[in-house]
Amino acid sequence: MNIDSKDILTDNFGRKHTYLRISLTEKCNLRCTYCMPADGIPLTAKKHLMTAEEIYKIATEFVRFGVTKIRLTGGEPMVRKDFPLILEQLASLPVEIGITTNGILADRHIPLLKENKINSITISIDSLQKHKFEKITRRNEFEKVWNTIQKFHKEGFKVKLNIVLIKNFNEDEIIDFINLTKDQDIIVRFIEFMPFDGNQWNMDKLVSLQEILDKVHYNFPLQLKRLTDLPNDTSKNYKIEGYKGSFSIISSVTNPFCDSCNRIRLTADGKLKNCLFSGNEFSILEPFRANKSISSIIQEALLHKFAARGGMDTSEKLKNPELHTKNRSMISIGG
Ligand code: SAM
Ligand code: SF4
Repeated sequence: MNIDSKDILTDNFGRKHTYLRISLTEKCNLRCTYCMPADGIPLTAKKHLMTAEEIYKIATEFVRFGVTKIRLTGGEPMVRKDFPLILEQLASLPVEIGITTNGILADRHIPLLKENKINSITISIDSLQKHKFEKITRRNEFEKVWNTIQKFHKEGFKVKLNIVLIKNFNEDEIIDFINLTKDQDIIVRFIEFMPFDGNQWNMDKLVSLQEILDKVHYNFPLQLKRLTDLPNDTSKNYKIEGYKGSFSIISSVTNPFCDSCNRIRLTADGKLKNCLFSGNEFSILEPFRANKSISSIIQEALLHKFAARGGMDTSEKLKNPELHTKNRSMISIGG
C-alpha cells in the first residue's frame, strides 16, 4: 500500500494525531491504587520491551509523519536506568517533549532536563496530607515528592501537578490544592477517576467536573475565572482572580474531549494504542524488528479509532466492568 506520509496520522473523523505518548516502562516505585492492581501486573520480559535505540527510531518515524509533541510516561519513566539516554536522543528530534513523573527520582535529573531544554514537568501528587498520600500510593514518599515539587519550582520549571480525585478520599483537598496557586505560578490539574482493568472503579468514586466547580464556586463566588483552552487541550482551564497560578479539570468521564483528540500511545512493549480507553492494540515493535515498514500499521491503528472513548461512548458502556477488563491496567498503558 502506498500511503502519503502526511495522511498516515489522520483518522476516519479527520483528527490529525500530532501528539505521541510513549510509555518507557511498566515498572513503578509507587503502587497507586487507581493505577496498579493490588496483585501487581505480570511484567513483560525485557527482550519484548523497546530498547532506547528502538524508542528513538520508532519515534523518528512518527515525527516524519507529523508528530510535533512527545510525552514520556509509564509506569514511572524515570525508573529506567537509560532514561537520560532516551531523553537525550528524543530531544534531538524537532519536537516538544513533556514528562509525567511521580517525582521520586526526578530531582536528580534537573541538570539533564535543563541541558535538553525541558522547562516544564508534570508531577503526580494526590494528597497534601502525608497519611493519605501513603494510603493511595502504598509507599512512604510524601516528603520526597513534596520537596521535589518545590525544587522544580525554585529552579524555574513550569510545574503542573496531577491529582486524581476520589470521593470521600481527597475531594476535601480541592481548595487546599487550589490555594497552592495563590503565590506560586503552578498549574493544578484535577483528573476524573477513570476505569481500567483491576482498579476497582465505579461511578460512585468519581468526583465530577461539575462537583469540582460547585466546590470552587462556593469558596470563591466572585473570583473564579474561565481561561481559554488551547485547541487540543484535554483540560478545561480556570484560575482564581489574583492568584499567580491556575487550575484545570480533566473530565474524561463526564465531559470527554474526544472530538479534538490528537493523541496516540505507544506502550513499553511496542504496541500502538489509538485511545487510552481502547482495548485494541497494534504491534509496532515486532514488524519494526523484522525490518518491515510500520506506516501501514500506524494507519490501520488510526482507521480503527472510535469517535469517542475507545467505543465506550455512553455512560452505560463506561459503567460496564467487562469492558474495562478488555483494556490493560493504567500502569501498563502509560497515562
Ligand atoms: N508514574 C507517573 C506518574 O504517576 O505521574 C507517570 C505514569 S501515570 C500512569 C500518569 C498519570 O495517570 C498520573 O498523573 C496518574 O495519576 C494518572 N492516572 C493513573 N491511573 C488513573 C486513573 N485510573 N484515572 C485517572 N488518572 C489516572
Ligand atoms: Fe506509578 Fe504513576 Fe501508576 Fe502511581 S500513577 S502507580 S506513580 S505509574
